[in-house]
Amino acid sequence: MTTKNMLKFVTRAQATPDKRKADDRRRDFDEIYASYSPTQASSQAGRCSQCGVPFCQVHCPLHNNIPDWLMLTAEGRLEEAYEVSSATNTFPEICGRICPQDRLCEGNCVIEQSGHGTVTIGSVEKYITDTAWAEGWVKPIRASQERGQSVGIIGAGPGGLAAAEALRRKGYIVHVYDSYDRAGGLLVYGIPGFKLEKHIVQRRADWLAEGGVHFHLGVRVGQDLSFADLRERHDAVLIATGVYKARDIQAPGSGLGNIVPALEYLTVSNRTGLGDKVAAYEDGSLNAAGKHVVVIGGGDTAMDCVRTAIRQGAASVKCLYRRDKANMPGSQREVANAEEEGVEFVWLAAPEAFLGDDVVSAVRVQRMRLGPADASGRRMPQPIEGASENHPADLVIKALGFDPEDLPALFGEPALPVTRWGTVKIDHASKMTALPGVFAVGDIVRGASLVVWAVRDGRDAAEMMHRYIQANQGQARAAE
Ligand SMILES: Cc1cc2nc3c(=O)[nH]c(=O)nc-3n(C[C@H](O)[C@H](O)[C@H](O)COP(=O)(O)OP(=O)(O)OC[C@H]3O[C@@H](n4cnc5c(N)ncnc54)[C@H](O)[C@@H]3O)c2cc1C
Ligand code: SF4
Repeated sequence: MTTKNMLKFVTRAQATPDKRKADDRRRDFDEIYASYSPTQASSQAGRCSQCGVPFCQVHCPLHNNIPDWLMLTAEGRLEEAYEVSSATNTFPEICGRICPQDRLCEGNCVIEQSGHGTVTIGSVEKYITDTAWAEGWVKPIRASQERGQSVGIIGAGPGGLAAAEALRRKGYIVHVYDSYDRAGGLLVYGIPGFKLEKHIVQRRADWLAEGGVHFHLGVRVGQDLSFADLRERHDAVLIATGVYKARDIQAPGSGLGNIVPALEYLTVSNRTGLGDKVAAYEDGSLNAAGKHVVVIGGGDTAMDCVRTAIRQGAASVKCLYRRDKANMPGSQREVANAEEEGVEFVWLAAPEAFLGDDVVSAVRVQRMRLGPADASGRRMPQPIEGASENHPADLVIKALGFDPEDLPALFGEPALPVTRWGTVKIDHASKMTALPGVFAVGDIVRGASLVVWAVRDGRDAAEMMHRYIQANQGQARAAE
């Protein structure tokens, strides 16, 4: 840790609440509001060599026409840049903020690979679209023609919302059902506000509602409304429910108090940021302020938890991961951010037991070494005999990943096909399940994935649902 970073952390740990708030504002500014000035955007975009082998475009799941919108930005033709960028992406300002660009477009930039530092594609994309909103270039959704048919979308996450937009433009009556009280799925309740400001998501939800999309919030399909009813009401149905069943740890003491799942912790934090009064935050049970926090896991959700705990004013934050830094699943950029903010990573460390009376007071950790690779090619962690240690903890956050819920059981539809992992099985060309007229997209198909993939799936599924409905209508007419 550099002296500058060390000072930053020590200052925060000892800071008054006002100082912490000021630090948060500065950090938020660094992370999300550091929009380019027109000159910065233009000079950054001008670094694109227009290489003619656009690996960036190939590795963007939406195949965004990156070289063209960079060139237009470099020339100051921002409205045209926005038109090009929004032609392939429903939520460019969101992807520009939270795509792991180092693994996608920017990681494959030819300039990056020649050692000169990537063109910051995500930041330019964000800049273009933020400017478009500010200038009024983002137009209301207009249906090309009104059709009498309707679609039901289960889930208002990025997958469901991207499909909703495309289907509404084609003229369908679009109804979106979501169990949460706000639209956005993990964009609202999973991803922390310091990475993605919630008003950015709300603005898109409002834009969809103004464009004629009907939202039914606080409605859990399979509980408040049956899946069979939904199929009856609509000409086609899209399942975009994401994956929410948290993976758990079975170890002595795992039932102690103050050991919580990551999404519960992040949801409470996000709700608080949105101004909701949440008892678990107010009473301190899901608030890291002043606590020694241990987060278990090495993925991006774990990084979101450690960075949220720092912002809540934790006394210390440690992250335990059973492999080493090079073999962790999370983005290296996120690890670097967390390290800079003062998070201590304990690599090659697996929780062995949780200590304490009623509530947790420490985590006993088994030290690991990396053994031979498994079938997937990743080196397997193996315990080092006799090597264990205790890490004090007042709050333990489990960030071990997510599995799908049992949808056939929840929906009372045993014929809904699922894979052995519980994800919904579809025909990947048509996006349709084996149930006629029932389609599926996003995490519930891929397993925990990325926003940009959910957007891509939603756009593709909309086209396939349109073809399906039109083909059915054609057949019905022929039979008359
Ligand atoms: C903490 C965290 C941080 C992440 N950070 C990033 C990131 O920085 N960048 C990135 O690209 N990806 C990130 N991801 C992954 C990304 O959020 C998901 O891949 C993406 O949101 C999946 O979109 P989706 O539409 O499939 O599902 P979701 O966003 O999960 O939305 C599903 C929606 O369906 C609703 N629903 C579920 N069941 C029902 C039901 N029975 N009835 C009605 N509604 C229902 C839910 O309430 C939810 O609103 C993160 C994930 C987590 C958990
Ligand atoms: S959508 Fe994501 S991967 Fe594609 S250009 Fe934008 S930031 Fe890069």
